[in-house]
Amino acid sequence: MSVTATPGEGEVRVFADYDGDFVEEADVVVVGSGPTGAVVTHELARAGRKVVLLEEGPPFTPDDFVLEGAASMARTMREGGLRATRGYVMPTMQPIALGGGSLVNSAICPRAPAKVLDDWCTRFDLSRTHLADLDPHYDAVADFLGIAPTPDDVQGPRNLRFRDGCKELGYSSEPIPRNVRGCRGSGECFTGCRNRAKQSMDVSYIPAAIALGARVLTSVRVVKVETNGRRAEAVVGRVVEPFTGKLGARFRVNARMVVLAAGCVATPVILHKSGNLANRSGQVGENLQFHPGVAITGVFPERTHPQFGATQGYQSLQFIEQGFKLETLWAPPAVLAVRTPGFGYELKKRLAEVPYSATWDAITSCHNSLGKVVPRRRSMDPVLKYHLHDDDVKIMQHAFWVLAEIFFAAGARKIQTGIHGLAEEMNSLQEAEAIRKTKMRATDIVTGGNHVFCTTRMHGDPTKGVVDEDGQCHDLENLYIADTGIFPRCSAVNPMFTGMALAHRQAGVIEDRLP
Ligand SMILES: Cc1cc2nc3c(=O)[nH]c(=O)nc-3n(C[C@H](O)[C@H](O)[C@H](O)COP(=O)(O)OP(=O)(O)OC[C@H]3O[C@@H](n4cnc5c(N)ncnc54)[C@H](O)[C@@H]3O)c2cc1C
Ligand code: SF4
Repeated sequence: MSVTATPGEGEVRVFADYDGDFVEEADVVVVGSGPTGAVVTHELARAGRKVVLLEEGPPFTPDDFVLEGAASMARTMREGGLRATRGYVMPTMQPIALGGGSLVNSAICPRAPAKVLDDWCTRFDLSRTHLADLDPHYDAVADFLGIAPTPDDVQGPRNLRFRDGCKELGYSSEPIPRNVRGCRGSGECFTGCRNRAKQSMDVSYIPAAIALGARVLTSVRVVKVETNGRRAEAVVGRVVEPFTGKLGARFRVNARMVVLAAGCVATPVILHKSGNLANRSGQVGENLQFHPGVAITGVFPERTHPQFGATQGYQSLQFIEQGFKLETLWAPPAVLAVRTPGFGYELKKRLAEVPYSATWDAITSCHNSLGKVVPRRRSMDPVLKYHLHDDDVKIMQHAFWVLAEIFFAAGARKIQTGIHGLAEEMNSLQEAEAIRKTKMRATDIVTGGNHVFCTTRMHGDPTKGVVDEDGQCHDLENLYIADTGIFPRCSAVNPMFTGMALAHRQAGVIEDRLP
């Protein structure tokens, strides 16, 4: 798809377009333009419905993308990319941009494993969320976005060495399926794809929805859902200047159906600020889960040119049942350097080794580690509380060890783990044995958590969850939640594709229920 949702085309309203307070009317108003909101918007526009999509962030064009990590995060992420949990301190990034997380993510699109979805159904009184139920929805999204395994010619040495290391050890691995078209392997997914190959929502579902008649308003922050009895009637909010956060005009969108897709962290804040809406279960903002990620950097004898190659091109699902998924990784060096040891001369020497390095990570299923989203006073930003459980630290310890094994099997000459209390560099698998033998604590490990779940979880029992299997709030007739907050547990694999499949199903339900 060549069309993009840019302000220049006059179809996406931007900050400069608002000259006073305004009111819009819609069949359906969707709050949040990330992967889930974009799918709902597109599917309902395709059904001929009048849809208004509201997004707090601005649209970005390739000219806006900067390769420097901190500068990019300051513009595309909430709280300038400095958001972190309290309790156990872990950085977590939530986007603020047209397209939501799809603008900055690595386009990784696996289906959730059948066992994970079976487990959701068993534990949370669900009956229609098995893999076979979601497959038609996954298929529809995959067709639309061109999701396919990453071809070898854009992998680059950093990804292929991971494949070789896994092969050497007899571990399974495969090219990562991604929502890209014509990827050139430029490794820039995190700061925005300047090639427009990544099928982020602003170049795929959103322009297609606009072509079908959807209206897309950016720089608008929803602060409240207005209700009448058991019905949502409208959303209200303020125009917000990009990057400064300065508040502008007021707006209201009246709609027959309201869909919140503001993300797992923002949606509970909107509900709390709407008078503790949809919270008879007491579960809004509770049960917060992440896939905390741990990573190791390895240095090889030969150049790996890590800046080239698909940002994340290879994965291994070998250890899913042990609680982790392995992936290759690239991001601007300043972002990855969090586990690079040393100061001054030592640091300089190690940064000179970056062209010989690769970083591989594990995302972990931390079911025992829970948190909550608490609204701040006079702010739509949250306080995120989180506790990392000792049993989940053991999963990470296992993942670190397996990553070390793969690095040395792939020919690395040393690794850097960033684990507190262990040698800064390990030069052999024998030296890496310390990873297995140490008593590791949560505070010893550098983690990051960008996959967020469960704060408005789906549950068949209205006393235990916020939404039902279709994403409809138990407490209201016409309020739906689409974002990854509705996952009842973490998904074990990257969540975007599953979020979009659920959103695709939800759009069909809403269409059936609209008069
Ligand atoms: C750096 C990074 C890399 C990642 N890589 C991958 C990957 O490769 N594969 C994968 O599956 N997942 C990945 N993820 C996670 C994935 O991007 C998210 O799971 C996904 O974007 C969630 O989609 P969503 O629609 O639920 O919410 P989001 O994408 O978070 O979108 C929510 C949108 O709502 C807007 N919004 C919030 N509050 C308001 C408000 N009050 N009013 C109006 N608008 C509002 C936000 O600005 C945002 O644009 C990554 C995440 C990050 C940060
Ligand atoms: S690797 Fe480069 S070309 Fe491929 S999707 Fe990512 S940013 Fe775009």
